[in-house]
Amino acid sequence: MRTWKRRGLLPAAALLALALPLSSSLVLNSTALAAPRITTPEQFFGFPLGTEGKLARWDDLVKYYKLVADKSQKVLYQEIGKTATGQPFPLLTVSSPDNLKKLDRIKESNLRLADPRGLTEAEAKKLTAQSKSVFLLEAAIHSTEVGTAQVIPNILHRLADEKSTTVSEILDNVVLLIIPAQSPDGTKWVGDYFNKTAGTNYARTYPDLYQKYTGHDDNRDWFMITQPETQISVALQNEWKPQVVQNLHQMGNSRGRIFIPPYLSPNDPNIDPITVQQTNSLGMEISRSLTAEGKKGVQWGSTYDYWTPSRQYMTYHGAPRILVEAASAQDLAYTYKSSNGGPIGPQEPDTNFIEPYDQSTWTLAQIVDYLDTAVFGALSNVAKYKTEWLYNFYRTQRNAVDPSADKPFAYVVPAGQRDPFATYELLNTLQTGDVEIEQATSAFTANGKRYEAGSWVIRYAQPYGRFAKTLLEVQRYPDLREYPGGPPQSPYDVTAQTLPMLLGVYVDTVAKPFTASTTPVTKVQPANPAFPGDPGGNGAYLVSPESYGTAMMIAALQKAGAGTFRASAEFSAGGRTYAPGTLIVEPSKAAQTALQEVSRKTGIPVFSVGQAPQVAAEQLKDNTRVGLLRGINNIPGGWMKWLFEQYGIGFNEVVAADFAGDLNAKFDTIVLPAGISRTDIVSGLNRDRYPAEWSWAYGVGEAGWAELRKFVEDGGTLLAIGDSVATARQLASLPITPALPSDEHQFFSPGSILSQRFDTSDPVAWGMRPDTPVWFGEGDQAYTVTGGDVVSSFPKSGEQLQSGWLIGGEHLNGKANIVKHQMGEGLIVTFGSEPTFRTWSRDPSKLLFNAIYHGPSTTVDGAALPGALRG
Ligand SMILES: [Zn+2]
Repeated sequence: MRTWKRRGLLPAAALLALALPLSSSLVLNSTALAAPRITTPEQFFGFPLGTEGKLARWDDLVKYYKLVADKSQKVLYQEIGKTATGQPFPLLTVSSPDNLKKLDRIKESNLRLADPRGLTEAEAKKLTAQSKSVFLLEAAIHSTEVGTAQVIPNILHRLADEKSTTVSEILDNVVLLIIPAQSPDGTKWVGDYFNKTAGTNYARTYPDLYQKYTGHDDNRDWFMITQPETQISVALQNEWKPQVVQNLHQMGNSRGRIFIPPYLSPNDPNIDPITVQQTNSLGMEISRSLTAEGKKGVQWGSTYDYWTPSRQYMTYHGAPRILVEAASAQDLAYTYKSSNGGPIGPQEPDTNFIEPYDQSTWTLAQIVDYLDTAVFGALSNVAKYKTEWLYNFYRTQRNAVDPSADKPFAYVVPAGQRDPFATYELLNTLQTGDVEIEQATSAFTANGKRYEAGSWVIRYAQPYGRFAKTLLEVQRYPDLREYPGGPPQSPYDVTAQTLPMLLGVYVDTVAKPFTASTTPVTKVQPANPAFPGDPGGNGAYLVSPESYGTAMMIAALQKAGAGTFRASAEFSAGGRTYAPGTLIVEPSKAAQTALQEVSRKTGIPVFSVGQAPQVAAEQLKDNTRVGLLRGINNIPGGWMKWLFEQYGIGFNEVVAADFAGDLNAKFDTIVLPAGISRTDIVSGLNRDRYPAEWSWAYGVGEAGWAELRKFVEDGGTLLAIGDSVATARQLASLPITPALPSDEHQFFSPGSILSQRFDTSDPVAWGMRPDTPVWFGEGDQAYTVTGGDVVSSFPKSGEQLQSGWLIGGEHLNGKANIVKHQMGEGLIVTFGSEPTFRTWSRDPSKLLFNAIYHGPSTTVDGAALPGALRG
């Protein structure tokens, strides 16, 4: 199919043909003289994309993108980063050859409109007339939603090859950025697995996480921005400031055939009203295109809300999120048939569902076709009304920088925080989202409060102040019901994201203007505390336990083989008072190197004393062997794995084969992440449906289950998180009973931040504030306790809700969350709610790390500590 070696080099005869009027060219031999055509997807892949039972592989998709870029002057192919497994992350840029030559100028105009401070109305109008709209199309963030990856070659080919007014208008007026797979790894794994299992009795669907750590939650990462793929896309959006971002997805099969915005209530009030209306109008435009083409089953205003920033970065940066969700086929690429032979999905027409779907089957070809229309419907509108799109984008951003708006003046992050690492992470998250941060060069007063030099100021009136506000404020999710007095209308995801609570940082909201002398912070850096001198042979290094970053210090000390103790009580040394849980570390060179490195990364101060304190302590077990149970497609465990790796925790995954041997010989502590049931462990993945490469997830049987019980009885530590507490209760008779009503009328906490009271003298709660709030989501539970040691519980009375939405908070009154249970020689710690939920909940992550090392540690009395430190 390769007719010409290099793009742009047409033979003389072809140029002649192009120059001739159409009527004359018809008399020429068109096969010999026509302009070069781009190989079609069907020619390249050998079948039309969307064919029953066939999926183009990721590697071949990429080859096709490179081929088109090579042949067309309208398409650029670039690799703009690496995935979590180190594979290339491609980007396609599509526009007219003219536009592609002046991308820098287009980008510059857009950036000027995105930050309209100092821009006059006349200048803005001129820029919107001259510049081009930037449209970001993102496919295949969810790898099993295969149609979203398969449709891209068709879209690309049409744009590169079709000579029509529609396509010319798009190319002339729009710079289209295409992320052909937001999770390239998963797109490869799912497609290759599907092809590999062809002709076998095995299930065709990839059973595990399709992004290395987060799986389906890769679309819950848009405010903490933890994964490389998210970081790449955020950097791209920051670079271009697109006016529209369209996300292609697939949903289940019970609803309409395709969902397009407007969204279901509520929308985050921090999304500019213009952005909301741009979303609504473009959504309606797409619906019109689909309906006009005879595509039935188009639905809006259902299921998907416009609330959480975990799913939408662009909305706080001036662009609507155009979510497209097509219904799925059977087993990725086979025809879905209705169970009763009748038409699929709801059949009652409504204003948000004009035309029910009238067929009894639904195919991958239809998915590809519907998505294609949804993309061209949006692109055509943005191209046709390019100037209006740019101008409305400018107006959105003008609203953002308007200091007269009835909004807070600024957020102040006071210097001298309890947790310097949390403060760094909070500021760094905001800065990654393009939020401007200033630092005070001298003390100042705001709202009657004095702030020291070094405090940070985040003004609301700035281009992305909305992103800062949604992350810094308390969420008040509306009390939405299915009908008056009815059950709660479930949010699509969660309801809270208040970073100061999740990270444990004090942030003040200041409503009224104040003055402070500040300097812009170009790049947030961790604090840089002076490292102390050598404590000498009789001394020790000391680290207070308040920062969640101390987990990194413990991990580094474990790797260095440095003797590490934790004070069991408060003590004073060198003129300072240290809280229970303070790290007391041997005065060796290895310890110094480990502490210094982590202190530099986290800003956590280290102290040294020439005389080791005489305080009762726990000695951490050298080389504590940590196990993280790996469950198939277990997203909470995936997030936890990422966190462990980030913190340098030495750990191994616990897999099926481990249960056949002696678990105590391999592990000191085993963590059961949320979402692991007894059935997952005992029965596991069906070996008739999944080949040997998944044997790690096969069931361990009753013998394996008994081995897990024996692990604890023989001295092991088992940590059960969230709904896995039910699994621990099946393993051992624990003195806790679920206390919450299962009826959502009575109790409902769909991902909210709740009040909590900690016993900070308990080793599991060392370093916590007594009232640190905790994450509480669906599947979490509170307990009535008849034994064990209660580490944390809900307040006996008063407001349980801190941020988000909660129904029936009184059922939590006085109930336990974290409880420690002795069992035989071992320990079980049950965490009713997830202390590390999606790694957003970071301050409470201390609880998990404390418990991991506490179980296997031994006690040392005060008089013996100095000697023990000398080894
Ligand atoms: Zn999806």
